[in-house]
Amino acid sequence: MSAKKENRIRAPRGTSDYLPDRAASIHRLDRLAGEVFSNYGYQRIITPTFEDTALFTRSIGEASDIVRKEMYTFEDRGGRSLTLRPEATAPVVRAFIEHNLGSQSLPVKLYYFSNMFRYERPQAGRFREFWQLGVEALGSPEPSLDAEVITLAADFLRALDIREGLMKIGSMGDENCRPQYTLILQKYLEEKRDSFCPDCGERLKFNPLRVFDCKNSECQKALADAPKMIDYLCDECRDHFDGVGRLLKEVGIEFSIDPMLVRGFDYYTRTTFEIQSSQLGAQNALGGGGRYDRLVSDYGGKPTPAVGFALGIERLLAALKAEENVDLSTPRKIDVFLIVIDNEHRDQAFKLAIELRRIGLSAEVDYMNRSTRSQMKLADKMGAEYALILGPDEMARGEVVMRNLSTGEERPEKLSSVADKLGKIKGFE
Ligand SMILES: [Zn+2]
Ligand SMILES: [Zn+2]
Repeated sequence: MSAKKENRIRAPRGTSDYLPDRAASIHRLDRLAGEVFSNYGYQRIITPTFEDTALFTRSIGEASDIVRKEMYTFEDRGGRSLTLRPEATAPVVRAFIEHNLGSQSLPVKLYYFSNMFRYERPQAGRFREFWQLGVEALGSPEPSLDAEVITLAADFLRALDIREGLMKIGSMGDENCRPQYTLILQKYLEEKRDSFCPDCGERLKFNPLRVFDCKNSECQKALADAPKMIDYLCDECRDHFDGVGRLLKEVGIEFSIDPMLVRGFDYYTRTTFEIQSSQLGAQNALGGGGRYDRLVSDYGGKPTPAVGFALGIERLLAALKAEENVDLSTPRKIDVFLIVIDNEHRDQAFKLAIELRRIGLSAEVDYMNRSTRSQMKLADKMGAEYALILGPDEMARGEVVMRNLSTGEERPEKLSSVADKLGKIKGFE
């Protein structure tokens, strides 16, 4: 009896299964990130998959597309409003305050590698569940911390051998200079209202800076002549911005200044940056980040300046594939395959396989009652280095045949000591 095809349950729209090859790539990215990030002094943090909804509405901004249209918000059985995390900065900041991490020596440097959730229209490069890795460095207002975070992002891409990453840097100003600039921008936008799409008309009311997020080409054209934040920075913001640029040059990070770079969260202050890949299509941003000096105090913590970034894992994998330079998936190779000739030895093969695995070797055994020939083929396919053949005559003498599958060399070994012997050959024990 087969279930009707149309009744079959599939993975929810916008999600995907990470089958072993892709899952292995993600795992390697995770490991590599751990290596590079820990050289820079960042430690891993894991926060809950869902949070109090207010955490995100407050930090990302009520007016943002994420909060208005894209959050997975639900009421739990206790009537609480919860939201699957759409990003990780707010949860990290919450944890920082909740556990009083600010009492440690500053800056506190954290990184994460987690799945995120946004109700987006599924399209190339956009998913409803996606993975991000990122860092948050909390505790210093110095431009050197911005430069460190940006350099870390660039170095991580370098470690992956992604060469086509373009670093763009901008500044959002601060509470000192941004309000003034926002009024100037609003005035300009109102004058040119007809040149903008209806969405931008909405944005204009909530938060005029969001107009820069619009992907509409007419809007982008109309924005070319708009006043830019970068030209209205106060002296302190200007000095900070110049300081970041100077340090990046010192350490050989190539970047361009993007006066239109306004990232989609309300909480950014001063530095913003984005890394794009020339290898990807419309969704070309690998990730980005910026400084958020007010977020910790907005949540009721002690004022703590901070800076961070996030990179999209799916985008990184797409960029790697496009550049065809790093193969993160390695073909599976095993140490030993146990070949059973006579069915009565299957239990012994099972036992021996477990024994080998406990020593630290990867061992496989047939579970499908395959013929000897098919078992040999499978051993080859799995890239086994050795075959242990449990032949009836040898087994009667308490022996197995150990065959080196690359040289074809073989010799009998005692069943009782063959695991130890292989362990020694492979450098275990
Ligand atoms: Zn628009
Ligand atoms: Zn300023």
